[in-house]
Amino acid sequence: MYEGIVQDLIDELGRLPGVGPKSAQRIAFHLLQADPADVRRLADVLMEVKDKVKFCSICFNVSQSEQCRICQDPRRDPSVLCVVEEYKDVVAIERTREFRGRYHVLGGAISPIDGIGPEQLHIRELMVRLADGAVTEVILATDPNLEGEATATYLTRMLKPLGLRVTRLASGLPVGGDLEYADEVTLGRAFAGRRSADD
Ligand SMILES: [Zn+2]
Repeated sequence: MYEGIVQDLIDELGRLPGVGPKSAQRIAFHLLQADPADVRRLADVLMEVKDKVKFCSICFNVSQSEQCRICQDPRRDPSVLCVVEEYKDVVAIERTREFRGRYHVLGGAISPIDGIGPEQLHIRELMVRLADGAVTEVILATDPNLEGEATATYLTRMLKPLGLRVTRLASGLPVGGDLEYADEVTLGRAFAGRRSADD
């Protein structure tokens, strides 16, 4: 345990995803020794990102305006919707250049251990989006791990009765990992080879 504010810093850093107590301590001491101008730049960008970056009111992608660039782009196919867990998955899929439809970002995956159920995700908004029948295919591109599978299974059950085509990415993605860790070629292939969620 450290003196007041230093411990506060370690505690705050330790709350970040993937930062354990050891790493939090290492980052805190790095910041203590760093040039004040460097730390100021980091603090500024942290505040700026919270002020300026919003979430798209349609798809929940990260956006600088009310609607994200993809939702505003008339060249994107409005009949195909790709459902992903996080914003970073949109980035990964965009890199493959394999997909020309639109997205829906759930904001996570179903994970009972972490207390995340369907009602914590943007599933209700997804159902509202699908209500007008403009979308004819939904691609479930959740992560190839337990939570991603559970989420895809849940969504398949919800979406099938709507009579649209529900597809999953082809196998070949590294199992247990995150979508974003797949290389572009592998992810692109998984997209091109997507199959009906019935299988
Ligand atoms: Zn959007």
